Amino acid sequence: MAQQKPALFIIFGGSGDLAHRKLYPALFNLYRNEYLDKHFAVIGTARRDWTDDFFRNTVKESLKKFCEDDKIVDEFVSHFYYQSHDVNDSKHYITLKKLAEQLNDKYELEDNRIYYMSIAPALFGTVAGHIKSESLITANGFNRLVIEKPFGRDYETAQKLNDELSLTFDEDQIYRIDHYLGKEMVQNIPTLRFSNPILETVWNKDYISNVQITLAESLGVEERGGYYDGAGALRDMVQNHVMQIIAQLTMKKPTVFNSENVHAAKHDLFASLKVLTSNEVDDNFVRGQYGTNQNQSEISYREGLNIAKDSQTETYVAGKIMFEKGDFTGVPFYVRTGKRLSDKSTRIDIVFKKNETNIFLDSNDDIKENVFSIIIEPDQGYRLLMNGNKIGMESGHNTFELDHGHTKQQLEKVPEAYERLIVSVLNGDQTNFTRFDELANAWKYIDVIRERWDNQEADFPNYRSGSMGPSKADELLAKDGNEWIWKG
Ligand code: NAD
Repeated sequence: MAQQKPALFIIFGGSGDLAHRKLYPALFNLYRNEYLDKHFAVIGTARRDWTDDFFRNTVKESLKKFCEDDKIVDEFVSHFYYQSHDVNDSKHYITLKKLAEQLNDKYELEDNRIYYMSIAPALFGTVAGHIKSESLITANGFNRLVIEKPFGRDYETAQKLNDELSLTFDEDQIYRIDHYLGKEMVQNIPTLRFSNPILETVWNKDYISNVQITLAESLGVEERGGYYDGAGALRDMVQNHVMQIIAQLTMKKPTVFNSENVHAAKHDLFASLKVLTSNEVDDNFVRGQYGTNQNQSEISYREGLNIAKDSQTETYVAGKIMFEKGDFTGVPFYVRTGKRLSDKSTRIDIVFKKNETNIFLDSNDDIKENVFSIIIEPDQGYRLLMNGNKIGMESGHNTFELDHGHTKQQLEKVPEAYERLIVSVLNGDQTNFTRFDELANAWKYIDVIRERWDNQEADFPNYRSGSMGPSKADELLAKDGNEWIWKG
């Protein structure tokens, strides 16, 4: 049986999109798989004036496509309670506290509380402040705060938010979600690196030529224009997900793999990023915004809902990230992320250096670089590109691939990122959450690029929907004599 921890979840923003699309299905799967039993309860809070029954029906609705067994769904939603709530109204926190205490007794929750911020980031600080001033924190159980992205808009706002949260919660109580760190294949990177000597020995600047990280989406911004137009791909994807994937790939081997050591290793790593000067940005980063597609059946970004007609927001970023010191000094990390690209794919391609000496004099050109690929989504698996003889009497060399894809049965066992992360919160394990110092250094890196771009008008749109992004992203690698491995 799965490990179970009693807890009360207070979800601020319980009527919202994230709660219904991700959190309730994740909690339900944990319930079904016995990570939660009768000792749990959920209070959803939001502005609307709903009854418990109405709220439970909205939760049931969000589970429809996951389960047809009404009995188990009814059992599950019976643990859900609703509290109408305005974040600024102190009285509402007092009512919330009373309800929390009642549920604590009813479900024997041992005073354990998880406060989940699934509301607009501008409200995070206010809610945390009231949790303290209206004394929602319990003396005996655990009190953990889960924070959704974005954590600030830049270093300064992230620091301010952190200062606000720190008035109520200590760092070891704060769980900053980066849902990429909840993904099976991303969590597996340290295990791959540190349990396979065949990889560990070559995982450094002596053997690696360059690393390519692609987070490509085929969809556009859809209904989220209001949020996205104020954010853009650099803030929405690079500052957090791309940076955390880089950290998984490059942090030094911890003596023991636990939260404290992993974060110490990540701290050193982020502190060794080679921050660009404003003048270096144009040579190292490319931005793009999608237009319509070839037959003009798709709307361009600027024609989307709640998007400014002259929007300067980037829907695509490619960049070259380097380190100033450590095992990867001089190795380019080429990253790219974009919307409305030719295909959806999240993957890492690690390109190794060619052998400096080639003993096969007649076929020098046929020997290619080894490439190790970690395929994260939508397929999951690994590929290794190797060299060998051409089969048969013909002389010369060929490449072949060692290819492992998780089977359908294996994939069915893979939990959603949110399920893993919620279990980690229940277990008090912060390994796969971001610590403030990492995030602060990532912002400092990003802020220079943002500032440069904010002061220069872009010639948008500059890539077609369904393409591989702006051609300048190819030039970025070509300048170094490299090319993208994944071509869509
Ligand atoms: P949403 O707009 O769908 O929901 C916001 C919720 O906050 C609603 O329940 C609303 O009632 C509540 N709310 C708003 N103002 C309030 C107030 N003054 N007092 C009390 N409650 C108030 O937003 P969402 O898409 O669910 O996003 C929630 C958070 O999750 C945001 O921080 C967002 O950046 C983050 N996030 C969302 C997604 C996603 O896919 N939706 C993905 C990653 C991160």
